[in-house]
Amino acid sequence: MKLEQLVRKNIQNLKAYSSARDEFKGEASVYLDANENPLNGPYNRYPDPLQWKLKERVSKIKNVDVHKIFFGNGSDEPIDIVYRVFCEPTVDNVVAIDPSYGMYKVCADINNVEYRQVLLNDDYTLDAGRLLQNIDSNTKLVFLCSPNNPSANILNKEEVKKVLTSFDGIVVIDEAYIDFSIADSWLPELDKYPNLVILQTFSKAWGLAAVRLGMAFAAPEIISYFNKVKYPYNINILTQNFVLEELDKQDEKEEWVKTLIGQRIWLEEKLQTVALVEKIYPSDANFILAKVTNANKVYNDLVEKGIIVRNRNTVSLCKDCLRITVGTETENKALIESLNSL
Ligand SMILES: *Cc1c(COP(=O)(O)O)cnc(C)c1O
Repeated sequence: MKLEQLVRKNIQNLKAYSSARDEFKGEASVYLDANENPLNGPYNRYPDPLQWKLKERVSKIKNVDVHKIFFGNGSDEPIDIVYRVFCEPTVDNVVAIDPSYGMYKVCADINNVEYRQVLLNDDYTLDAGRLLQNIDSNTKLVFLCSPNNPSANILNKEEVKKVLTSFDGIVVIDEAYIDFSIADSWLPELDKYPNLVILQTFSKAWGLAAVRLGMAFAAPEIISYFNKVKYPYNINILTQNFVLEELDKQDEKEEWVKTLIGQRIWLEEKLQTVALVEKIYPSDANFILAKVTNANKVYNDLVEKGIIVRNRNTVSLCKDCLRITVGTETENKALIESLNSL
C-alpha cells in the first residue's frame, strides 16, 4: 500500500494551520504570542493542540506509541476525518458492512462520497469474499465495526484478516464495544497492517459519553494526515484534564464492565422466557439485539410504560428487532416485568 496514492492530492499539498502553540512548544515566563486575555486564568490559554499529556497516559494504558494516537470530539470526528483525508467527493467510494453504525453513511453523504453497503450473512457474520467483490479502483476505505452495532457480534478474525490483507486501501475497524467482548482488540496487531485504523471511544465502557472523546489508532503517517486536517484545538482543556483524571478509574471501569456483562447474561436468560421474544442474538457488547413478534408495537407499548429501547425494525436484516442497552439491575428488571405484562 502506498499512502500517497490513497490520500487526496489537496490534503497532501495542504499547508496546515500553524497556531501559536504549534510554533513555540517550550516553557516560558511571558506568553505574548496568541492574543489571549492574560487577566482571566486559568482557562484563558489555548490548550495543547496535540494533547500530549493525555496521549502519554493513553499510550501507557493501551501499550501504543503516542504517535499512533489521535483524539477527536467523539468517534464522530475521526469517522469524518477519514473521509476528508482519503475520499475525493463524487469520485471515490467506501465499502461498509450492512447493517452497521449509522454515522459511516451520514459522513459519506456529507462528504458526497458513494457509500456501498454489503450485507452481512443472515447470522450477521462477515463474508470477506463478498465484501471484497464490491471494491474497485476508486474504493479508498472499508468500514468494519466489531463488535458490530446493532447486531452485537464480534466479526470473525479470519474474515477481517482477509479484508486487511486483500484490500489495498484503508480498513477502519470500529471497536467502540471491544471492552465488553472476550475477543481481542486489533490494537496489538496495528504494526502488522499499515492500512489499519482502529477506532475506540470513552463513550461506552468508560461511561463518558457526555465528555465527547474518541480515539483513533493508526500508523504515524496516517495520524499525521489526521492532525493536518483536524481543527487546531479540537479537544478543549476541560476534556483533556477531566479524562486524564478519569483514567485513574481503570479498576472501577473493569468492575463496571464485569457488572454489565453479568447483567447482559441475566437479561439474555430472562428475555428467552418472554413470550413475545422470538430470538436473541449473541452479544459481545453492552446491548442485546432481540427479535420480537412485532417490533413497532412492542416499542410503542414500552414507551407507554416509560421504557425506551431502540427500534431497529427498518434496518437491513433486523426486521422486528429491538436493540436493548444493558442497564442497571433495577432497570433491567423493570424491562423484563414490562415485557411480561404486554
Ligand atoms: C456508540 C458508538 C460509537 C461512539 O461514538 P462517540 O462519538 O465516540 O460517542 C462509535 N461507534 C459505534 C459503532 C458506536 O455504536
